[in-house]
Amino acid sequence: MTKHHPFNVALLGIPFDDNSSFERGPALAPKVIRQVLKSGSLNGSTELGVNLRKSQRWLDAGDVNIAISDNFIDEIEQRCDQLLSENTRLLTLGGDHSISYPVLKSYGKYFEQLTILHIDAHSDLYDCFKGNRYSNACPFARVMEDGLCERLVQVGIRTLNLHQEQQIAKFNVESLAMRHWPLAQPLVFEHPVYLSLDIDGIDPAFAPGVSHREPGGLTTREVINLIHQINMPLIGADIVEFNPNKDIDNMTSQLAAKLVKEIAGKMLLSIT
Ligand code: MN
Ligand code: MN
Repeated sequence: MTKHHPFNVALLGIPFDDNSSFERGPALAPKVIRQVLKSGSLNGSTELGVNLRKSQRWLDAGDVNIAISDNFIDEIEQRCDQLLSENTRLLTLGGDHSISYPVLKSYGKYFEQLTILHIDAHSDLYDCFKGNRYSNACPFARVMEDGLCERLVQVGIRTLNLHQEQQIAKFNVESLAMRHWPLAQPLVFEHPVYLSLDIDGIDPAFAPGVSHREPGGLTTREVINLIHQINMPLIGADIVEFNPNKDIDNMTSQLAAKLVKEIAGKMLLSIT
């Protein structure tokens, strides 16, 4: 390992949507996003000046194919453990949002004092949803119970109910509701950041390809700026809940590919 190659960043697909509480489809996302990334519709350059097509540190680790749905946590966690132990950081493509919990279980073993920046229309803090504690509505309740981060900051939230408000108070989550947007001051982090990006945090005008279209969300530009402005190393990320079955003329697949580029570029620049 040389000074100039401190770690690699790998794209990891998790085509798994068995924990979707409403509509299926996010399992199709990794394949669709990779198709856009390989197409001639965009180049390899990110806005921060990284050329992904020339980077020796940007790779594709393939997919985690879940053989047994009930074992999804172990199967995802083990693959992430393997990659993180090889000094590879992960940009994971879901899949529904349930996949973030096992990814973060793995990250918790390799990174202490992690801050999670969670962009979403929903706080995903349900203790249990429709009888499923591992639903896509629950991952951050499990993350907080396990103490996998020292700080959880949520942006884009616009669907809170009483139970979720109680969970926010119980777990001391910094949940920044969309009704107070824009932020009074920029986000400032003290520890390395993991980004969990639910595509439905973005307004459906920009991202129609989601199972839960919730108007009143962030613009594409606002999300990209939030990513660029992260003031600590960005050491991992997931992009979840893109549902190709709901997309309109590839708008959301192009958006997801753009976000892959900007997140990967930011991660590659995050040398500690
Ligand atoms: Mn959501
Ligand atoms: Mn979510």
